[in-house]
Amino acid sequence: MNPTPKHLDRVVAAFEATYGGRPELVARAPGRVNLIGEHTDYNDGWVLPIAIPYEVNVAAKTRQDDQMRVRAVDLGKQASFGLDIEEPSGDTWLRYPQGVAVMLRREGHALQGIDAVYAGDVPRGSGLSSSAAVEVAFAHAYAATAGISLSGRQIALASKRAENEWVGVPTGVMDQFVSALAREGHALLLDCRTLEYEHIPINLPDMVVVVMDTTVSRALAGSEYGKRRADCEAAVQALQPHLPDVKALRDVSPEQLEEHADDLTDVQLKRARHVVRENARTLEAAAALRAGDAGRMGELMHSSHESLRDLYEVSSPDLNAVVEIASSVDGVVGARMTGGGFGGSAVALAQQSAVEPLQRVIAEQYPQRTGRHAKVFVCEADPGASFIRL
Ligand code: ADP
Ligand code: MG
Repeated sequence: MNPTPKHLDRVVAAFEATYGGRPELVARAPGRVNLIGEHTDYNDGWVLPIAIPYEVNVAAKTRQDDQMRVRAVDLGKQASFGLDIEEPSGDTWLRYPQGVAVMLRREGHALQGIDAVYAGDVPRGSGLSSSAAVEVAFAHAYAATAGISLSGRQIALASKRAENEWVGVPTGVMDQFVSALAREGHALLLDCRTLEYEHIPINLPDMVVVVMDTTVSRALAGSEYGKRRADCEAAVQALQPHLPDVKALRDVSPEQLEEHADDLTDVQLKRARHVVRENARTLEAAAALRAGDAGRMGELMHSSHESLRDLYEVSSPDLNAVVEIASSVDGVVGARMTGGGFGGSAVALAQQSAVEPLQRVIAEQYPQRTGRHAKVFVCEADPGASFIRL
């Protein structure tokens, strides 16, 4: 049986107040946090995220025409658009639901006009992927109201296309995949080249994942992201004369990289070392979760952070502060920055009993070191998106 949407009462009440009458269904889609595998996605590598217990819910009902009416309760906004829309219109917030409808139609699915209301609790802009939660929840709502059944992969890909091509944000495939396909108690090991995935059981009873939002906006992230991608492409080009089968850093082993280290510039070598070792760590982390080896998982998270800080150079003083503070708490087995870097959030793996001390120490020490307050979210791996009929 599908889980009850967390904000069911709220979106149903808002639907009734907006349109009169009950919605037919409520779809839900969660945010996510990546446990390990950072800056590996665009190098055709692996990522290992979980879905978190914060979600966006869409209440929807079919209309008799081709109009889409949507109300974003959390933003206090409301708008409508026709199903035959060809260019993005209206404010940015509207482009997420719009884009998903457009991409599903472009993929040949006949949608119905709907009335919809949506709301949620995935923090917006904290790096927990509220945008994917909106997209994936709408994809379910559109499919279910039109009576079509889509795979999680189809939902994820249409959602990703919406974000890339309609909203104009160049994200990878991770966010939408994990929001659409996650399984309770499991992490999702996703191969970003083949889009094959595996649900990895997290055999760590009494452990939780703690997300710590630095509350620093990721202002630098855009331009530096482009530079990192260019560094990685340049490293691949420098390696290709010796390793002709290499299409991306995913194809290079740590040993091969060291063998050809002289062919790369210092910067290329640092970037490439991060990526090839992070790929190896991510695969090893999946094995550690499965084996219930919390100690090894923690070490891998710790190495990942150091590598992102020193080799890939995408961490920040605030991220380093929150990771160091978290790591100092007994029962926290690992901590690292997560997401693109330059702000956003860090993630820790902690014993249940360490959560309260962790929260206290962060509340005390993070403001002393940074002048800011961090937000802390305690998470267990939640199920991916679904919907219920009312
Ligand atoms: P994130 O890291 O949270 O994904 P993004 O900038 O990618 O940050 O996406 C945030 C945007 O997604 C918001 O500005 C808004 O347009 C949309 N969004 C997220 N959550 C909601 C919500 N609950 N209601 C309406 N729009 C939302
Ligand atoms: Mg986003």
